Amino acid sequence: MMKIFHKIKQWLLYIFFPNTCFCCGRDLPHDNQSPLCRDCTIKLEPVCGLICQRCGLPLKSGGAHCFNCRGSKAAKYKCSYIRSALCFNEPSRALIHAFKYEKYIRIAKFFAPLMYKTFKENPPFFEAEALIPVPIHKSRLKQRGFNQAEILAKHLAVYCNLPCEDILIRKRKTESQTKLNRKQRQQNITDAFEIKKGAKIKGRAFILIDDVCTTGATLEECAKVLKAAGAREVLALTALRE
Ligand SMILES: [Zn+2]
Ligand SMILES: [Zn+2]
Repeated sequence: MMKIFHKIKQWLLYIFFPNTCFCCGRDLPHDNQSPLCRDCTIKLEPVCGLICQRCGLPLKSGGAHCFNCRGSKAAKYKCSYIRSALCFNEPSRALIHAFKYEKYIRIAKFFAPLMYKTFKENPPFFEAEALIPVPIHKSRLKQRGFNQAEILAKHLAVYCNLPCEDILIRKRKTESQTKLNRKQRQQNITDAFEIKKGAKIKGRAFILIDDVCTTGATLEECAKVLKAAGAREVLALTALRE
């Protein structure tokens, strides 16, 4: 009898709340916990193989660093280490889009274990004492209702057993970075962040958390203010790498 009730419940849920793949739109079984169908899940690409030792950018040929981190340049960055869980491609882009712009917050639960896998595979992260989400401006927070980086950081914090400290403020409203080139991105984000009063920074190591890393300009600006306030080390972990 219970089995029949369960079947009817599943069927009604399916009719009224259809569950579909966020990438291709294919119907999924209602008890499916994944936001993607099997075919789209297979297409997700973890960032692996040859990558830049500093910024984590996938490299086409060998070498330790990408063009922007090569030679003496690597040491000039305030954010010393960037790693990401997945490459930016069709299914991962669809997930981030649904998460950020269509407010499917549950997608953070899908990203968190993937980001934790990247955390575990990269020993430099083990010295960190806290996770810091990259903040969004208060006007964007009001419009969106949540900061996607903070939600990712909170989920990941549970896996890493580290505190999530929301200690940065985006003091300046910046234009969206998506249509800007590398130089414009840097200019757009310069001096956009500050530290909340009373935050404990001195001598501590942190991991910045964000949804996507493209040129790393936003992470670098966050690292700049943290280092200026005495942080020992600033690393970064993002869900996607573009
Ligand atoms: Zn699909
Ligand atoms: Zn690099």
